[in-house]
Amino acid sequence: MLRELKERLAAGASAEEMVFSLFEKIEKSDLNAYTNLSEDLALERAREFDKAPWSGLLAGVPIAIKSSISTRGIETNCSSRILEGYIPPYDAHVIERLKQEGAIILGKTNMDEFAMGTSTETSYFGPTRNPWDTGRVPGGSSGGSAAAVAAGEAPCALGSDTGGSIRCPASFCGIVGLKPTYGLVSRYGLVSYANSLEQIGPLALSVEDAALVAEVIAGHDPRDSTSVKSDGGYLPSLDGGVEGLVCGVPKEYFGEGVDPVVEKAVLDAISKLEELGASWKEVSLPSTKYALSAYYIIAMSEASSNLARFDGLRYGLRLGADKDWHTTFSEIRAAGFGPEVKRRILIGTYALSAGYYGRYYLKALKVRTLIKQDFERALSAGGADVLVTPTMPFPAFKIGERIEDPLSLYMADVFTVPINLAGVPAISLPCGFADGLPIGLQIIGRHFDEVGVLRTAKAYEDATPYHKFVPREVV
Ligand code: GLN
Repeated sequence: MLRELKERLAAGASAEEMVFSLFEKIEKSDLNAYTNLSEDLALERAREFDKAPWSGLLAGVPIAIKSSISTRGIETNCSSRILEGYIPPYDAHVIERLKQEGAIILGKTNMDEFAMGTSTETSYFGPTRNPWDTGRVPGGSSGGSAAAVAAGEAPCALGSDTGGSIRCPASFCGIVGLKPTYGLVSRYGLVSYANSLEQIGPLALSVEDAALVAEVIAGHDPRDSTSVKSDGGYLPSLDGGVEGLVCGVPKEYFGEGVDPVVEKAVLDAISKLEELGASWKEVSLPSTKYALSAYYIIAMSEASSNLARFDGLRYGLRLGADKDWHTTFSEIRAAGFGPEVKRRILIGTYALSAGYYGRYYLKALKVRTLIKQDFERALSAGGADVLVTPTMPFPAFKIGERIEDPLSLYMADVFTVPINLAGVPAISLPCGFADGLPIGLQIIGRHFDEVGVLRTAKAYEDATPYHKFVPREVV
């Protein structure tokens, strides 16, 4: 899709008109996919492009950015009251890269507050709606980015994925979402939720588009000590096919708790890959049952530490009369954070406290090692090349259905969080429908084998029609 868009621009189509019509569509939309738009900056840049078109991998391409990624001069509030009005004085590394390659930033997308959630319902600015059924959630936490792309309110977007936040909304909104290997994309300028788990990645309408955006944002950045050098090369190897590929099918990702329609769609996808020349074998990831507990202990512990910086003195919310520091700190945090964020800070602080550290946090770290070893074993030489699973155990649920029951929301992440604990790459792409709602197929690869993941996804996409469907309201 982005290729055609670039071709149209190269043939003389006006970037300004393109950007203008996107803003018109966004203004009319009832999805609440964006928290704030950067209309003036975007139109100005589009006009400059029309006057003297530049080159670059994303020359003239409009893009939506999750509200947790810092953009110079554009409000970045993480869908939290505590950061409402905060305008970063600098760009995240990924934003610098997008700009260098010629992209045009449309605005910031809605998300679960500080990326804590699976449904985009914990946003201070209200939930985003799923374009396939506006009574349902778009998934989370990058729900605004996914809904915008699925509804044609942006041709592509960036999200961040700590425990599934790119793949879950991609699955619920019927689009493609890639969580890169930990370390492939710089986190400089990403507002941290749980920094040992998260990565920025693309949400797009096709595997090729996701590969293109990944190509732009991947690569070493000295400002993120966990970032590594990347060879890129995703686009040239996309069409390599799956002849001879071995797909591992982890038995723990099927059966109880998985919607039978979802399970059937994923098993059909595996047969399709077989038809295309791959083979499959059952593998086991025995520590899967501990993944959710370990993930939530680690994520909440890191969150309790990362969110300590929001003290009301440096960014965002002010409450008027200056009182002593302790009172100001607690009043601003009480008023500025929503209930899910508070819950996580409290649990995380408890898990890290002197008396309980060994019982919870340390234990979770040990489980993390076991999970990593599960993936290394399943994906070792002589084992599988990629793993194929459902992204989510069920399609998008109704707005309000789970939000009062945090545990049932956490459980929805059962197939996405292990991937972040292990640090491996994974993509979600459409593989069918259940009562008109999209189903996501997850393809997981070895560390830094984005090439293998994308190539497998592309072969499947080329052989199936699911990515071509668009939501009814969007036609
Ligand atoms: N749903 C998970 C959580 O709430 C994952 C969120 C994310 O990836 N940012 O932590």
